[in-house]
Amino acid sequence: MINIALFGAPGAGKGTQSKMLVEKYNLTYVSTGEALRKEIAEKTPLGLRIKDIMDAGQLVSDEIVVEMIDKIIAGNTRNGVLFDGFPRNVAQAETLDRLLAKYGTSLLCMISLDVPREELVRRMLERAKTSGRSDDNEETIKNRLREYENKTLPVADYYKAKGLYIPVNGFGDIQEISKNIIDMIDKKIVENK
Ligand code: AMP
Repeated sequence: MINIALFGAPGAGKGTQSKMLVEKYNLTYVSTGEALRKEIAEKTPLGLRIKDIMDAGQLVSDEIVVEMIDKIIAGNTRNGVLFDGFPRNVAQAETLDRLLAKYGTSLLCMISLDVPREELVRRMLERAKTSGRSDDNEETIKNRLREYENKTLPVADYYKAKGLYIPVNGFGDIQEISKNIIDMIDKKIVENK
């Protein structure tokens, strides 16, 4: 199985590259952000609980996210899973390892999309014009980047220590970025054989 986590700040292009990877390797796509937005749109009890937190650009509790991930991994993992926006902190990373082990598998690698901060803000403000996302506004974007820097960046060190962290330049031509990601993943697959 090929399980990959896509890492990067908000606006780094994780959504775009995820689509490509899911098709290329025939993976199950898991975006915690998307799943949480769905709960809000459907006004479920969980959605009502998390709306204000997400609108403020903060991370929702690990418990909620981990339960979601566990259900998805348990239900559907044919060729592997692409995780977009998870793990978002070190506790979630540790949990992911445990969950994957529980289902007899592990993470192949974490691909980190590296993009300069000014470009991240520019992209998110551009996306705000059409995304309809209530967290794509200047104030919330600042909070989301702060959450990323404080809580999510340490996840990179966690995977570096395990030899699973692969940085890729995420600034430039989309096709070129996709190609670099695929090259890195293919190399990792060969190494693991
Ligand atoms: P995203 O679509 O990945 O940018 O996520 C949008 C929002 O969903 C984030 O700002 C958080 O409030 C929440 N979220 C998404 N994934 C997670 C996660 N793994 N842990 C905690 N909160 C999350």
